[in-house]
Amino acid sequence: MTEPQKTIHQSISVEGNGLHTGQTGTLIFHPAPVNHGIKFRRTDLASKPIIDANIDFVVSTARGTTLGKNEVSISTIEHVLAALTGLGIDNVLIDLDVEEIPIMDGSSQHFVQALLKAGIKVQDAPKNYLVITETIIHEIPSKMIKIMIEPADSFSVTVEIDYETQVLGKQTAQLNHLAEFEKEIAPCRTFVFLHELEFLLQNNLIKGGDLSNAIVFINRQVNQQELDRLAKVFNKPTVKVKENGILNNLQLHFENEPARHKLLDVIGDLTLLGKPIKGKITAFRPGHQTNTEFARIIKHTLKV
Ligand SMILES: [Zn+2]
Repeated sequence: MTEPQKTIHQSISVEGNGLHTGQTGTLIFHPAPVNHGIKFRRTDLASKPIIDANIDFVVSTARGTTLGKNEVSISTIEHVLAALTGLGIDNVLIDLDVEEIPIMDGSSQHFVQALLKAGIKVQDAPKNYLVITETIIHEIPSKMIKIMIEPADSFSVTVEIDYETQVLGKQTAQLNHLAEFEKEIAPCRTFVFLHELEFLLQNNLIKGGDLSNAIVFINRQVNQQELDRLAKVFNKPTVKVKENGILNNLQLHFENEPARHKLLDVIGDLTLLGKPIKGKITAFRPGHQTNTEFARIIKHTLKV
């Protein structure tokens, strides 16, 4: 049986700060008709430009995935897109009054909750699937990166990460069916290593970070002076490093939360193909650049 397309029953908003810009913004999900797809609209600009959530409009994958069209951009789109795909929503118009999607807690959780509150509406047209008819592989051996998709009757994703650090180690995560997304994947937060965080802070590339929207892994010895400096940057009286190398006593939602978050990012980035996928994905050390390159290869190979 073919699944019907889905939208939401009513408009609903989510407010928060952008991770990289620090700007407060409001995002509003609106219901949309069948075959509309997912589109973003910048309501703060006079012409209210619309950009389709499509791989053709990806302009950067440096820190999150950014769409752009005629000098207008919308950044950090991946966690919102994962929430929509994870809930099987095909058609929605997303208004945004700033350049960057709010980071919230660094996961898809807040978007999922808002969309469920708005209510998922079944529409009067079948889903238009992207059916994978052949195995497609994208591999970058020098970076030990590999992502592949194989023909399958449903959508599934397996992710393995290994950054060769003691603190994180090798992890795998698996999604066997989209129905697992809400509970198993949506709450999984983004993460960063201390050395990356320091680079971002020094270059003013992270302004909305407050230690509640990313898991920070400390992969080297840090002294009290450095911890005091971090505490000051994050406006906290003190910060600590737990035995497991995680900053500030943060509790992981799952032991393999980082691998699950990378899986969430794969789902978000592949949403840019514009159709729900029937295929089995396996990814080793994926990232936004790899994911979007892979989406382009799938699009080109299958002439989507
Ligand atoms: Zn992410």
